[in-house]
Amino acid sequence: MAYKTINGKTYKSVISPGVKSCFLKGSSIDILTKKAGNTHVSWRKNSKANGYQVQYSTKQSFKKARVKTVKGQNKKSAKLSKLKNTKSYYVRLRGYVRKGKKKYYSHWSTCAKIIPWNGKWEFAGYSKIHTDSATLYFSSAPKTKKKTVCINAGHGTKGGESVMTLCHPDGSGKVTGGSTAAGAIRATSINSGTVLNDGTTEAQATLKLAMVVKKKLLKAGYNVLMVREGEDSQIDNIGRTVFANNCADYHIALHYDSSSSDKGAFYISVPENKSYRNMYPVSKNWKKHNKLGKNLVWGMENAGVKIYGKGEMAIDLTQTSYSTIPSVDLEVGDKSSNHSNKALKTIASGIVKGMNK
Ligand SMILES: [Zn+2]
Repeated sequence: MAYKTINGKTYKSVISPGVKSCFLKGSSIDILTKKAGNTHVSWRKNSKANGYQVQYSTKQSFKKARVKTVKGQNKKSAKLSKLKNTKSYYVRLRGYVRKGKKKYYSHWSTCAKIIPWNGKWEFAGYSKIHTDSATLYFSSAPKTKKKTVCINAGHGTKGGESVMTLCHPDGSGKVTGGSTAAGAIRATSINSGTVLNDGTTEAQATLKLAMVVKKKLLKAGYNVLMVREGEDSQIDNIGRTVFANNCADYHIALHYDSSSSDKGAFYISVPENKSYRNMYPVSKNWKKHNKLGKNLVWGMENAGVKIYGKGEMAIDLTQTSYSTIPSVDLEVGDKSSNHSNKALKTIASGIVKGMNK
């Protein structure tokens, strides 16, 4: 923790007169997004800093990195320019204090990585909306788990309802009903979701929860891949699944169910249907999906979240139909569920417990 860079050299816990007072605790990246070609980074401000430096590079070593200096201690965001649309970028930041003519820097934050869409990924051709990038956040916990969890805040893609995609990669029809009827070959690429009883849209509620889950998972040592961190993310359901398949080890989509009875949380399990369970990639992964779902529900119950029945409901989902990693749709509650900050923290703790298991 105690690192300091003076004139380009990094020192550990330097204590000398006049220098100690310049010691800065590092800032960390809060949100990094790339939308419609624009890259934005925001951070939690450091009350002692006079300004910040943001570094970005296509290399994790930050060789030949570009630097953006942001003056002013109250600044907490910046726009990064001239990023190529087809390349991944690593971004990190540090604060500085000025003393006379010298600048003293804090240590660099852990980095985050912007990942653009890759049309060569398996099933990429099935997605219709994928102009935004996903972001991978690296954990700065002392002991990392070396696993990446994709947190997918359900819904929140403008225009997603007017675009259709194939329910199954092999073109067969849905084997169960759900938001799309059984037998349907195509479904909306992503729908707008339900509206909770207090007027909050499901997309707003899942986003708020996703941000809490992200923070807790990072703290617990997991890297986190985010496919939506604002009101709108131009990545449809298949797109989010393909991002998760290629950049994460687990995929958790967060949703609120459209019932109004406050019935409790559950996961969407893989239907007991022979042809569905025999269809690739479901055939290779359905057991893993169900295991992940069971563990997450176990974790939530353990954290004090109300659980619906046995904690599962079998539905043929587009997400499941394209997932090549353990992947689950988690219905954390319904339209009547409490979604206060406290309730969200409880759910998030449950998800971390479930992941640890
Ligand atoms: Zn939903």
